[in-house]
Amino acid sequence: MDFEQYRKHGKEMVDYIADYLQNIRERRVLPNVKPGYMRHLVPDHAPQMGEDWNQIMDDVERVIMPGITHWQSPYMHAYFPALNSFPSLLGDMLSDAINCIGFTWASSPAATELETIVMDWLGKMIGLPSEFLHSNKQTMGGGVIQTTASDCTFVTLLAARSDAIRRYRANNNDLEDAEVNARLVAYCSDQAHSSVEKAGLIGLVKMRFLPSDDNLSLRGSTLQKAIDEDLQAGLIPFYLCATLGTTGACAFDNLKEIGPICDAEGVWMHIDAAYAGTAFLCPEYRKFMLGVEHAQSFAFNPSKWMMVHFDCSAMWVKNSGALHKTFNVDPLYLKHENSGAAIDYMHWQIALSRRFRALKLWFVIRSFGVEGLQKHVREGVRLAQYFEAKVRKDDRFDLPAVRHLGMVVFRLKGDNAKTEELLQAINRSGKLHMVPASIKGNYVIRFTITSQYTTEKDIDRDWEIIQKTHARLESEETGMITYNLLEDEVFEDVHAKEVAKDKEKTTWRKSREFGMSLVLSNVPMSPKVVNGSYAAFFDNMVEFAKEITRTDYAEKPIRLSPRRRIHLRDQSKQQSLDIAPLYANRNHPFFKQGSLDSKVEEILESYSNGGYSIKYPQDLSALAETEQEEFTDTIRVVVPTKGIAGKYDGGISNGEAGGKMRVQTRDASNGVRLFCKHCGHVVDVDEI
Ligand code: PLP
Repeated sequence: MDFEQYRKHGKEMVDYIADYLQNIRERRVLPNVKPGYMRHLVPDHAPQMGEDWNQIMDDVERVIMPGITHWQSPYMHAYFPALNSFPSLLGDMLSDAINCIGFTWASSPAATELETIVMDWLGKMIGLPSEFLHSNKQTMGGGVIQTTASDCTFVTLLAARSDAIRRYRANNNDLEDAEVNARLVAYCSDQAHSSVEKAGLIGLVKMRFLPSDDNLSLRGSTLQKAIDEDLQAGLIPFYLCATLGTTGACAFDNLKEIGPICDAEGVWMHIDAAYAGTAFLCPEYRKFMLGVEHAQSFAFNPSKWMMVHFDCSAMWVKNSGALHKTFNVDPLYLKHENSGAAIDYMHWQIALSRRFRALKLWFVIRSFGVEGLQKHVREGVRLAQYFEAKVRKDDRFDLPAVRHLGMVVFRLKGDNAKTEELLQAINRSGKLHMVPASIKGNYVIRFTITSQYTTEKDIDRDWEIIQKTHARLESEETGMITYNLLEDEVFEDVHAKEVAKDKEKTTWRKSREFGMSLVLSNVPMSPKVVNGSYAAFFDNMVEFAKEITRTDYAEKPIRLSPRRRIHLRDQSKQQSLDIAPLYANRNHPFFKQGSLDSKVEEILESYSNGGYSIKYPQDLSALAETEQEEFTDTIRVVVPTKGIAGKYDGGISNGEAGGKMRVQTRDASNGVRLFCKHCGHVVDVDEI
């Protein structure tokens, strides 16, 4: 790609990204693919020669998007937010182009200097005590951008460990480092993130998980009791990771109580506020961080709620000397004229190399301003309150934990299995995505407001889906209705409609690249057999295999378009039961190409007592010549026991193009269905 091409394709990429984000509501938030789905969509070897850029970009929709969980979707309520924003994307675009590796000040002074400045800005923005700031000349405090909150916990645990070993050995010179290490003990609450457990595991120190109170908060008395017990047992308490905004329920440890104990016992208190830290931009939420002055280190992820896209974890320490003493190796080749006079961030982290992440943070802070960011946080909290009010009104549901910020934890009354079943059904529909958590033995669903584009209307829709899914499961249980999967799990993918409108492109792709007439896909709810005119749906591969063998192909061969190029033939393996590759030089009827041809064969073999066998037309070589033929012929429409069939009038090929298909449903009513462009599942139903 030369400069001119880069300018062109770069602009196209910006448009693609804007379209993607603008229309993201129309995509299924959770992909409908099975493990290994991609293996069959790309060749198993790299291209020998460079490929055309347009061809590569085409594969983004064909190969990548079907397997994407759309984290920026307003219907994404799982985990915590992982937001981006245009200033952030543009910041990283520039940073990626500069691509300096800012391990030392000298390796790119602007990268280091901007990082120290924005980390001071950010520290002030969330109300951190000045001891954490670079600008405070009384302390060795300051901020650094790490990759993840897990890194922050691990890095601070290692610093606290070195510090504790040094301090202990100063008075007990007869002990080796390893002997002291073996007696170290760290603490966190039973609600702490798994990354804290991991830090203890790889830091080779004991980690005690202390019971939280009824509000899921770690209290001073619990900590004091544990420390006393451990001291009694000859252990050395050295580190505590307090959480502000726990992952399960966004609860807050009581810093005011545990902080002074840490001070008194010489325990390094680290605060993990991965998600909730962004809320402290708003003064009204700083009540949750009262006692922060007792911490030695504090971290939160602007890459979660603050719209600075991943990766960006902001970490501050009061005493950067502790990091230096832990991570400083200083080889000659990394020394520079200003060593010692300027910050070399390589001493504040595990890795040597580091990205210029301060740029996107700077762009975001400047573009939104403090007020813009506060507005964003408050809106997220307001929408969570809006959702919470809906749950509260429905007496079939419980709110088992207090909502503090932008996350609501809820469950169905009764045993855990009902809530679990509800969550699974909702996630399967692909309409919204949530994840569970366990709170004191209760299975709960976490509903987090993630996107900055979420509206009340979105929440209304989501709540309706939750309620309807629950009602459906209830009626199924009581035998009141028969659940109609096809009707109920329809998801409108407007993106597919747009592609269907793009006739020219579709036609071109059909004849030039795919041009196959028989598609078989493993994806549930997908059209399993499609040719130019007709399609049939099967939920069940075995049924399909049986049906296909009953069809007399020798009398009326399926019209097929052999793929022209060998690499294309390879590309769509497994998606197609395509007899096209049956060129004369292949031994048919059963040749193994590793595609679903052999899958069908496998199925048939496993059902061989039914006496089924696939019959292929005797002379397929003639078909190989008919490459550009239009497929107006029909295959006999196979109407399976469970499925629908009908006339297709869109431009489908290889399950790629979306389009409308008039269908006759099982119950003989007619309707129009849309295929998803990506995987071929049904995406819309309009009664006509
Ligand atoms: N700490 C808390 C409280 C979290 O909720 C999470 C993740 O959501 C983490 C740590 C881990 O964050 P990261 O993926 O940045 O390591």
